[in-house]
Amino acid sequence: MNSDLFIYDTERFNSIASDDILQQGLTFFTEHKVVALDRQDHALIAQVEDSDVNKSYKIELTQSTGGKLVVQCECADQNSVCKHAVAVLHSYKAYTDRYKQDIDNATQETIQGCIHKGKHDIRVKLISGNLGFGVWQATSTIPTAHGPQAYQVHIRSLNKRVNYCTCPDLNRNRLGTCQHIEAVLHYAQSKPGFSAFKEAGSPVSFVYLAWENNKPVIRLYPIATMSDDLTAICADFFCSQQDFYRPFAR
Ligand SMILES: [Zn+2]
Ligand SMILES: [Zn+2]
Repeated sequence: MNSDLFIYDTERFNSIASDDILQQGLTFFTEHKVVALDRQDHALIAQVEDSDVNKSYKIELTQSTGGKLVVQCECADQNSVCKHAVAVLHSYKAYTDRYKQDIDNATQETIQGCIHKGKHDIRVKLISGNLGFGVWQATSTIPTAHGPQAYQVHIRSLNKRVNYCTCPDLNRNRLGTCQHIEAVLHYAQSKPGFSAFKEAGSPVSFVYLAWENNKPVIRLYPIATMSDDLTAICADFFCSQQDFYRPFAR
């Protein structure tokens, strides 16, 4: 993914805009102003809300043949790279950090749909635990015939698809994510300490349901400090790939 043209680290950011623009762009990103984001072959197309002027701007990022970032934004900023462009690049980085390994377009589309709904239609509240490992309530803000729908989301990782939600969509999607999980991740990624929690990973080992090639697989997520006793017990049930051992499968 390092070869991805639109992944910017601090050094690359510093080369495209002033500190002031970079700071404003980062604020736009953390305040969830990037409301739509689509990666196409050679372009990033996005929409950014600007509450300062009460407008929403369409923006397209491409790359010149010389590798220079080319920004086409509806705003009147005279800088070649505006704060909206910086916000979009942050948003894209957060997205790819989470879904690097996803390959096909249909999968991408479903995930994008979950992210979109998660951003716009769902309110989240931490019930127990913390940003990196905890239980959340996710409530749809779109009223249904049965009143507001609330589900519980169990966050175990901020960058792996090992999280759980009590909604029916999680199993329907067969992707290991749903709009409720995405809503929590979206909320979490703008909070202080997000990177530290992401790096720290899960504090405990756990068993989870993964989806692979459209099929459910029970897997073990062992942490490095798992005790020998527990490792020995798990070895009876899980093979080396952390797959659940299926004694009746031939
Ligand atoms: Zn702009
Ligand atoms: Zn859900």
